[in-house]
Amino acid sequence: MRILIIEDEKKAAAYLQKGFSENGFTADTAESGEDGLHLARTEDYDLIILDIMLPGRDGWSVLAELRADGNDVPVIYLSARDAVHDRVRGLELGADDYLVKPFAFSELLARARTILRRGPARQPELLRADDLEMDLVSHKARRGGVPLELTAKEFLLLSLLLRRKGEVLSRTLIAEQVWGINFDSDTNIVDVAIRRLRRKVDDPHERKLIHTVRGAGYVLE
Ligand code: CA
Repeated sequence: MRILIIEDEKKAAAYLQKGFSENGFTADTAESGEDGLHLARTEDYDLIILDIMLPGRDGWSVLAELRADGNDVPVIYLSARDAVHDRVRGLELGADDYLVKPFAFSELLARARTILRRGPARQPELLRADDLEMDLVSHKARRGGVPLELTAKEFLLLSLLLRRKGEVLSRTLIAEQVWGINFDSDTNIVDVAIRRLRRKVDDPHERKLIHTVRGAGYVLE
């Protein structure tokens, strides 16, 4: 198991590296967010321990970049901050866990092992297209690492399009799958919902993912 520790305090980084090595892990360290991001992109890690307060690029930005790349590596945030909104922000950005300093190494090790055990079992619950991703377990959708605020129906609609990406779905099929009803005459409800969804998913971005196929329906690609 290979771990990357991104932490600018040399003593803390050395301490963590030693701890993980003694427990059978291979651990690399990076002293800045920029170096850490570079290593995470070029090497293959099973887990990243990520400090939030770093010189230059901070931990938030490192994680957002990785998730925008479609990099799924599990991440544990380390922070001196313990405000609830920081914790929530970390988890929303796609961190797997969050530890407030000071902490006992044994606790970090235990959490790391839990996450690594959970490992690939999470994969099928993650849907992805380009920089859009949906986690069906935590019920979260993100684009470019930024959480999307979706209603329950919008979440369902987007997950249907994403699960069958590249396939043109008729309005009738969408209406049946998302609303559970047969709309023989009026499928306008689908068009309205798609329009709302586009506002959230596509409008803020250059690359559009949801496309209209005239006379046929909608496709996500
Ligand atoms: Ca720091």
